[in-house]
Amino acid sequence: MDATTLPRLADRVIAARTPIEWRIEGTVDAMGRLALAVELEGTVVLECQRCLGSLELTIAQRTQLLLAHDEAETARLDAESDAEVLLAATTLDPQTLIEDELVLALPYVARHPEGSCKPPAA
Ligand SMILES: [Zn+2]
Repeated sequence: MDATTLPRLADRVIAARTPIEWRIEGTVDAMGRLALAVELEGTVVLECQRCLGSLELTIAQRTQLLLAHDEAETARLDAESDAEVLLAATTLDPQTLIEDELVLALPYVARHPEGSCKPPAA
């Protein structure tokens, strides 16, 4: 998947060094509850908010999402678990799911490490 084509990422990701590899599979968590495992792997290029240069970010993560069958279960699972909870009643669109996870994977403000770059001269 090309991260630059995702609407909620398009203004943050300036280039996709590699396509984002993704995998979604059904699983169960440690307590036997139904879950989805979302795996993401790839490199995106963000714009450093200090020097406006490019900043490569490697994404390699596996997130587990608990599946709930209705709103009540969503609320209950949310309260008793740190994991994200997904309402399974809605039609699952892989692209939306991947986009959600990518949005969460990106830093709120992308910057090179402190001291390694300067703002552009005015
Ligand atoms: Zn920078």
